Amino acid sequence: MQALLITGLPFLVINGQSALRFDIPELKLFFFGSVIWVQELYLILFAILFFLLFITSVTAVFGRIWCGWLCPQTVLLDLAESISRFFSGLSGKTVQRILLLPFSALVSLTILWYFVPPVKTVQSLFYDAVITGFFLVQWVVIYAELACMGRSFCTTICPYAMMQNALFDKDTLVIEYDRSRESECMKCDDCVKACPVGIDIKEGLSTSCIACAECIDACAIVAEKRDMKPFPGYRGNLLRPKFFWLGGMTVAAGIILAFMMLIRPDVTFQITRDPEMMPEGLNRYSWSLYNNTSQRKVLELTSEEGFVVIGETTLVLEPFSFNKGKVLVRAAGGNGNVRFRLLGDGVEIGKSVGFL
Ligand code: SF4
Ligand code: SF4
Repeated sequence: MQALLITGLPFLVINGQSALRFDIPELKLFFFGSVIWVQELYLILFAILFFLLFITSVTAVFGRIWCGWLCPQTVLLDLAESISRFFSGLSGKTVQRILLLPFSALVSLTILWYFVPPVKTVQSLFYDAVITGFFLVQWVVIYAELACMGRSFCTTICPYAMMQNALFDKDTLVIEYDRSRESECMKCDDCVKACPVGIDIKEGLSTSCIACAECIDACAIVAEKRDMKPFPGYRGNLLRPKFFWLGGMTVAAGIILAFMMLIRPDVTFQITRDPEMMPEGLNRYSWSLYNNTSQRKVLELTSEEGFVVIGETTLVLEPFSFNKGKVLVRAAGGNGNVRFRLLGDGVEIGKSVGFL
């Protein structure tokens, strides 16, 4: 499910663009029907803050749920392992390594889809040198990591795995062996054989455990035959104060982020006077415009009484686009500040800039 979500998200089109995609040439992030420009540092910082709060709360409360259930690494290895069980004759490892080839190619493509529209990626593959180069390099790196490192990546290199241990407390959800029933345990070691990271859950909590629950499933098969519940099981306390205050802060940050996106103007207009020397009564100004909407805008740039704007004053902005240019302003009786006005297609913005 999560693999489909991650792969499918770039195909979800809202307001004519991928739901989530970073456009490198124009340095903008398409974000669920809106756009965030790289210049909007306050929004980017707030989005990072929201993301960090989200990760912290999920990890502190639900433990390594990401590692065991959501991480693409886990999903791909699980998928390859499950499919390889259907093949007899070939060793499971060989089948898994063969299956990882198309899987890692798909992951490489999926990563590209978060930067280049999916249709364009497929059309340009093996025609565009940059796209093809990125695809092939990523494919090789992902395949090598999955086939050679496998789960040991989670226990040795993954920075998120290391960070998670610092966020745990005594109530965090973990998978633990029930020591009080140790005398009933058959010591069959099926739980150890099932563990993808090679842990013996009977020896107690390990920082390498990715909370995948494979040991619970393996034990359930043998324990059920004796009418017992599995010896490894979940332990933790979800509904505790930390759940509410961390969850509350994350929800509040999400609401503030959504509000900040909503109250943004449709068009962001910036205009500054160029410092270069100009003839008396004449100044040059540089303008830039950001269209934050999915509608095309045709805008007229004028100035209030006392000044005349010279140059291209009909400014066209395509959906989610950026445009910039220059105009001259001649004094016609006015001095001090020029009051610029930008009008059209539901936009009305005024800005005062000095005139020398
Ligand atoms: S699979 Fe269950 S019964 Fe067998 S050793 Fe592990 S915990 Fe004990
Ligand atoms: S100990 Fe159990 S939950 Fe932890 S990684 Fe091994 S199989 Fe998964």
